[in-house]
Amino acid sequence: MLPKAVLLVEDNEDNRFIYSTILQRQGYRVLEARTGEEGVSLARERRPDLILMDISLPRMDGFEATRLLKASRQTAAIPIVAVTAHALMQDRLRAREAGCDAYLVKPIEPRKVLAEVERMIGMSGAVSDGGRGG
Ligand code: MN
Repeated sequence: MLPKAVLLVEDNEDNRFIYSTILQRQGYRVLEARTGEEGVSLARERRPDLILMDISLPRMDGFEATRLLKASRQTAAIPIVAVTAHALMQDRLRAREAGCDAYLVKPIEPRKVLAEVERMIGMSGAVSDGGRGG
């Protein structure tokens, strides 16, 4: 079985690198998108097991991208974890309304991202998880 795939939609290069590195170390496949548009099309093409969706993105933001994905039968079942710099209750509600399944507030420690991914979809399923304990 192929390891589970996580689609990371994030315009900040440092965050992309950090989250991608820690997820790959635990055996997940990581797909990366820099814009909401790119995220939506990659999700349709590749059907990842989970999407980590930055909310603050240029042009199409994470709310809009989430709404599009949740409105399409093809992608509606993919869990989406919103990642945002705002801890405001209003943002949390907007994320929920857009269809996000969970919500993380930045700055997020890499191990918290990992813990949330594992909580949502379980371990990577990779045959060898050499990163464990190291
Ligand atoms: Mn951003």
